[in-house]
Amino acid sequence: MKCPYCEHHDSKVTDKRDSKHLIRRRRECLKCKKRYTTYEDVQKSDLFVVKKDGRREVFNRDKLLLGLIKACEKRDISHEIIEKNVNIIEDKVRKRGKSEIKSELIGKFTMDRLKKVDKVAYIRFASVYMDFQDVNDFKKGIKEVVI
Ligand SMILES: [Zn+2]
Repeated sequence: MKCPYCEHHDSKVTDKRDSKHLIRRRRECLKCKKRYTTYEDVQKSDLFVVKKDGRREVFNRDKLLLGLIKACEKRDISHEIIEKNVNIIEDKVRKRGKSEIKSELIGKFTMDRLKKVDKVAYIRFASVYMDFQDVNDFKKGIKEVVI
């Protein structure tokens, strides 16, 4: 289990919570001391993300977290808030109870959260995730946030 912030391999578990389908562990990186959460499926039922081009890959929480960290770069947003929002998004994804989910839908869940957290982060994420094709799309995205 690699630390999503500094990629260090060692962590200690600070908290563990079981639910019906998931084991959630709070971990603290032994190097950078930042905290993050890992999930383990009790039933080991993998969740697949269906990409726009039809490819499937196993849902990866770290990827989601990295996406949010990138979007929130240099904004005044704490790691706790980013973590909290990743938890909310992952809960939403997993609570659907289906074995696959379209990547667009994860993107939508993420944007719904970022819109509430930070408008700049939202626009950054949207511009990458939604793959804005031209300037007009981008303007529309900005309008949506500003108005
Ligand atoms: Zn670390």
